[in-house]
Amino acid sequence: MDHASRPVMLQDGPEDISAAADLLRAGKLVAVPTETVYGLAARADRDESVAAIYRAKGRPSFNPLIVHVPDLASAQALARFDERALQLAAAFWPGALTMVLPLRDGAAIAPAVTAGLPTLALRCPAHPVMRAVIAQAGLPLAAPSANRSGGVSPTDAAHVVASLGGNVDAVIDGGACEAGLESTIVALREDGRWQVLRPGPITEARIAAVLGTPSEPVTSHEIEAPGQLASHYAPGKPVRLDAAQAEPDEFHIGFGAVTGDATLSATGDLAEAAARLYSLLHAGAAAPHPRIAVAPIPDSDIGTAINDRLRRAAA
Ligand code: AMP
Ligand code: MG
Repeated sequence: MDHASRPVMLQDGPEDISAAADLLRAGKLVAVPTETVYGLAARADRDESVAAIYRAKGRPSFNPLIVHVPDLASAQALARFDERALQLAAAFWPGALTMVLPLRDGAAIAPAVTAGLPTLALRCPAHPVMRAVIAQAGLPLAAPSANRSGGVSPTDAAHVVASLGGNVDAVIDGGACEAGLESTIVALREDGRWQVLRPGPITEARIAAVLGTPSEPVTSHEIEAPGQLASHYAPGKPVRLDAAQAEPDEFHIGFGAVTGDATLSATGDLAEAAARLYSLLHAGAAAPHPRIAVAPIPDSDIGTAINDRLRRAAA
């Protein structure tokens, strides 16, 4: 594989999905649409295929991967679910919630997936294409976002090809992702505490409502998810936040009453803004302007997750 060549482009119909499943079983890398962002999938039980993910992304090996499963039973074969985990699975799976849980002894997961942690990050996705690929492959799939490490996440197939080129064997084109932001990651600690490691489409308030207890803040020595690192999602040029007005050399991303060169949502709809965020950061990166400015985004609901990504893109 080399960056200059191009991946095989697949459609989201049954024939191409079974071709993708065959490639995955053979240990190849396939980019697959999900309801959050495009994932770079590989079988999670083989060292070589997991190593290929880290190589293709240029991802540091201390950054563990999320494993995608078809259902709760498959998840329970890999990690230990307590009562809280079962409640969250019942409330939010399939969907955009990743749970970090104690890894089961002897689980068929390549050690590189967890980067040596005693925990495993698990998600049961809702997107019909991702679900069909997992079902046909018949294997848990490790799948980080399908972009070079540290860059802006892909929300359509063209973003994947632009970022990974021939470093991915095939890409299933399933159109634009609905949520447009990576899954919420929640860690359920064995001592009863829980924490959101990465805000996302499922808000902390919704998780707290199911669990009936508030989260404990993450202390700095507990940082274990690179989505928590200060700089991430970087578009490759300076980003200025809370910009109601832009300078002439800035590509201005608008929201609501702030029009901009392009808008996250003209009506001020936060879900629409989340779905368009990475696409507009890609557009800003490709624009001739040397800098990017972003309109103020309210810090409520999924706006919390949008602002989390924007702060890291600007860092
Ligand atoms: P992505 O590469 O965008 O899919 O991000 C995956 C995220 O999940 C990263 O921030 C990882 O650090 C995080 N993650 C995966 N496994 C674990 C784990 N066992 N404990 C904590 N965070 C994890
Ligand atoms: Mg990522």
